[in-house]
Amino acid sequence: MDKVQTKILNCIMCPMGCELTATMEDGVVTSVKGNSCPRGEKYAKDELTNPMRMLTSTVRIEGAALHLLPVVSKSTLPKGKILECAEALREIKAKAPVKVGDVIAPNILGLGVDIVASRDMAAV
Ligand code: SF4
Repeated sequence: MDKVQTKILNCIMCPMGCELTATMEDGVVTSVKGNSCPRGEKYAKDELTNPMRMLTSTVRIEGAALHLLPVVSKSTLPKGKILECAEALREIKAKAPVKVGDVIAPNILGLGVDIVASRDMAAV
């Protein structure tokens, strides 16, 4: 027998914040209601089956006035891998000078996403 579940979630793809009602059968999203545009349906399906998140963090840096460099993932990463990625960043030490967008950790954990500097940091 199919296991049918109803999930309520808010779309975060734009400020309208539509309330979405998704129906799932055996882990598959079979319908999404309440979305005002197609992005809402995609968001609900992704969020319920493969949630993704941006990662923002810091890494140590040498040769700069500050000791920590803010970094961000270039695109979203699987939510379940965010902590592991943050732990991997603890092992990394950048070297000044750094420009915003410089790749600090290429292809983190082999997930196909680069971690890049989110600000310039001059050498001192
Ligand atoms: S469903 Fe469309 S209109 Fe509604 S919050 Fe999502 S992106 Fe915005």
